[in-house]
Amino acid sequence: MPLYAGFDLGGTQVKYGLLDERHSLVFKDKRPTPPGIKDMLEVFAEVWEDLKKNEKRKIMAVGFGIPGIFSLREQKIIQSPNVPALDGFDLRPALGRFIDVPFWIDNDANMAAYGEFKAGAGRGVRNLIHLTLGTGVGSGIIIDGELLHGMCGFAAEMGHLVVNPEGERCNCGSRGCLETEAAAGPIIRNYRKLAKSQEPLTAEDIAAKARRGDVNARRAYEIAGAYLGIALGSAINLLNPEKILVGGGIMESGELILPRAIEEARFRSYKASFACCSIEKASLGNDAGLIGAASWAMERATRKTSF
Ligand SMILES: [Zn+2]
Repeated sequence: MPLYAGFDLGGTQVKYGLLDERHSLVFKDKRPTPPGIKDMLEVFAEVWEDLKKNEKRKIMAVGFGIPGIFSLREQKIIQSPNVPALDGFDLRPALGRFIDVPFWIDNDANMAAYGEFKAGAGRGVRNLIHLTLGTGVGSGIIIDGELLHGMCGFAAEMGHLVVNPEGERCNCGSRGCLETEAAAGPIIRNYRKLAKSQEPLTAEDIAAKARRGDVNARRAYEIAGAYLGIALGSAINLLNPEKILVGGGIMESGELILPRAIEEARFRSYKASFACCSIEKASLGNDAGLIGAASWAMERATRKTSF
């Protein structure tokens, strides 16, 4: 059975793996992300040679999930806030120097959504929204069984839906985006404000406090949950999805954020549309991106489309 390779490039790690035609992961591994673009390409080249060497079956195509705004028309990274070395970089010719099979590049959050759609909790769902809550908020949308790209490939940036017009400044230039209100940083900010504390804490530390009954910690997650619910309610009204899956590091403490988000989404959306939609935890964890990238390559290679 032929195989498909998937790469998921993150700010700290490059995750990669091989998928068979049934979308089962047959191999996966990871390496630290080097800071410079030259070293990053070297890692890709090395991993690719290793994958081919260690696998008797033929690898038909490769998918790359890249953080940031990737232009499908120009096949170029426009902006990558988490991996600034990639800003403006012409990735396709650079990869083409050593990837000797067809390959596709797409936004990492789109790839994670596609992974859940093909091999995770979104299997069989034709209208799906997938969100990743971590340091930031990534999202991908499947409409009528197709990944939503928009005109240039920039669609589905739910992390930059404005949920609080008076909120904090966002990296994108706006203010009060979902990403500045419902990710790890905002949860820490909420807690510090409520507890009047400057203690250096992570979102996990605050989750542990919440589980021990700390009211401020609990509230810090609920505030983030309410903002998440505002975005989900808008998305439900806009797209009438069958399922919304929420994954990412913050969802390790999903019980602290999701119930409040669901309550708010119910309030913010049409009853009939809300009733069509289930809001659940995603199922593939950290593998969603690489599984999605490999699935996407499989889909594109089988359909023989250029991007
Ligand atoms: Zn923003």
